[in-house]
Amino acid sequence: MADNERSKCPVLSCTALVDLILRSSEGSLIGTHASMLGAKTGAFPTADMDKVIITEPVDCPVRKEVLEALLVLLHDRNQASMESRVAKLSDEAVLDLVAALELYQAQEVLDVCARWIRNSTALRPWLAFRYALQHRDISTLDCAARYTLASNISAAHEVNKLDHLTARAWYKYRDPFIFVIDTFLAVPPPEINSKQKPHWCGGWDTYEELVKKELGECTVDSLLKQIAIARRGASTFLSEKLWRKALEIVSYSARSKGHPCGLCGTRANKWEAMVRAKIHALQPQVKFSDILRELDPSAYDSS
Ligand SMILES: [Zn+2]
Ligand SMILES: [Zn+2]
Repeated sequence: MADNERSKCPVLSCTALVDLILRSSEGSLIGTHASMLGAKTGAFPTADMDKVIITEPVDCPVRKEVLEALLVLLHDRNQASMESRVAKLSDEAVLDLVAALELYQAQEVLDVCARWIRNSTALRPWLAFRYALQHRDISTLDCAARYTLASNISAAHEVNKLDHLTARAWYKYRDPFIFVIDTFLAVPPPEINSKQKPHWCGGWDTYEELVKKELGECTVDSLLKQIAIARRGASTFLSEKLWRKALEIVSYSARSKGHPCGLCGTRANKWEAMVRAKIHALQPQVKFSDILRELDPSAYDSS
């Protein structure tokens, strides 16, 4: 009984009899209840557990943090509270928890976890992405991939955790987005005026400067989010609002005599239309699973 006293149930308020001791992969002893495991798992800690009385600690190939989380979840009957417990775990711990739930066939908790991961795609995209990869969940994978798009150290760190092929696919998936952003500043040439000369009224330069300033203040990450998730871009950075702001400046210039300049307006609209067309062209083609399949046709079939 000495082990039982040292190895309490991880649920502090639990008064059920501790009649089974589990040993985590690091050697920590954790107390639990044979009847609970018998009722809520298919094979925990051993398939024939309910037929034998176990006096020695049972080894579990699961680390302490994850094993405790699993046992706590088995006590819980409330879905919202189960979800909030899972939400507190790191991505690594959630993925290990899912693996342990599968190993021990704790189907009910597993279903709650899987649903929570899918529903948390926007908040925990890398978790959903890695879960979807492991479980061949194509729709979650394609949805999560959009939210993972970024160009920063923490994204690079996440990509490093992927296998070589998936990492290659991720960069290949991101490339067109980065390329489109690079082309935002490709300014269309001036309109040709009635004298067949390039139009210049002094108003355009201010507009171009304003747009480039707005763009310059955005990080690549925020642009990626605007394009990949909010599906905006041209409407944000080359917006009509911005143009109107510039128009006021045009209308004060001597040559436009207080009127908005139609030719500069046309040029601004062309710029915006060009960016919008490029963003639009990205939408249908980019599915992460397609890129992955292209790199390794055997890994992901389309069914
Ligand atoms: Zn308990
Ligand atoms: Zn003009």
